[in-house]
Amino acid sequence: MRRFSIAVLPGDGIGPEVTAEALKVLRATAELFGHQVEAREYAVGAAGVAESGDALPPRTRDAVTEADAVLLGAVGDPALAAAEGNCRPEAGLLALRKLLGVYANLRPVAVHPALAHASPLRPERLEGVDLLIVRELTGGLYYGEPRSLGRDSAVNTLRYTVPEIERVARVAFRAAAERRGAVTSVDKANVLEVSQLWRETVARIGAEEFPEVALEHLYVDFAAMRLVADPARIDVLLTENLFGDILSDEAAVLCGSLGLLPSASIGDGSGLFEPVHGSAPDIAGRGVANPIGAIASAALLLRYGLRLPEAAAVVDRAVAAVLAAGVRSADIARAGEPTATTREIGDEVARRVLGGQPAEPALRGR
Ligand code: NAD
Repeated sequence: MRRFSIAVLPGDGIGPEVTAEALKVLRATAELFGHQVEAREYAVGAAGVAESGDALPPRTRDAVTEADAVLLGAVGDPALAAAEGNCRPEAGLLALRKLLGVYANLRPVAVHPALAHASPLRPERLEGVDLLIVRELTGGLYYGEPRSLGRDSAVNTLRYTVPEIERVARVAFRAAAERRGAVTSVDKANVLEVSQLWRETVARIGAEEFPEVALEHLYVDFAAMRLVADPARIDVLLTENLFGDILSDEAAVLCGSLGLLPSASIGDGSGLFEPVHGSAPDIAGRGVANPIGAIASAALLLRYGLRLPEAAAVVDRAVAAVLAAGVRSADIARAGEPTATTREIGDEVARRVLGGQPAEPALRGR
């Protein structure tokens, strides 16, 4: 029997509530497919500060590097808003990403037909939207040196090396090869030298290593328009750190609620899988949080962390079936529609996973 060790970091606010449901679904897939999941919980964020005075305690550091994958809830606590250094909950997340060396952030955005009403776009624009944003996470303007803030001027540096571009490009091409086979690489090569290097490098990796994947290049301004005007045309959108930060939030709006969105951060070691939302202190402890972003993050963990695409596809289909059956948390319900609790939604997804069949070949790796 195959065994996988998962470090579970529930974190703060609604983090523990949604992570419990994601774990429930992971256990259901283990039962269906006959593998073993060893999941142990560790503190991060404000919970880490409470445990050891550090948002990423030493015990957690050791566990995440040894695990096959890391499942995270969310961090953040208004009571620590003024805290500094390692006592800031959000510092735990940055330290975790650095420790794991995760350089590619993956954010799938799919619009379920039953939830088209929750999107600001017209339903006909949303038909067939199923895209994946691959954002470079550890380079570019956010980390470039020198950087400084003076009285009359300020400096930030945009620098990418060829190996940094190559490794994230490979993540995007590999993902596209398992999806619809198309990469849209986004840059500003008409203005920026760094973008020219980006474009050349992505084109070379595509031609040499992934000739079966179609590649197009878009300027970032046009890509921003494509995301709202014709998002269904995009399969995998690959871009650098700053552009990816902006475009992934723009794409997030398409599906209507933050609570639905998962993410994966991948490097050469264990990956980090977490919903896009924060700790939502305004609704924490009430059992009303939407667990679907966390459950879909567990599906990404299966697909990209443990390389179990069939198990991932079963989870994705179970989530789609639950939404199609009209099960709704408060953030995605129409006025007057009955709502389900966080736990009820997790139970419904897990039940459908257990009743599920291994994925059709056509669905594998989607
Ligand atoms: P947030 O994502 O926590 O909440 C924004 C809004 O969306 C709130 O109204 C919240 O109730 C709602 N929401 C979020 N997730 C939901 C879900 N699963 N179901 C239903 N509704 C949901 O963002 P915020 O309020 O700006 O930040 C709160 C705290 O979270 C802050 O401390 C912030 O630093 C932290 N944060 C952490 C992460 C992370 O852990 N990755 C990301 C963003 C913010």
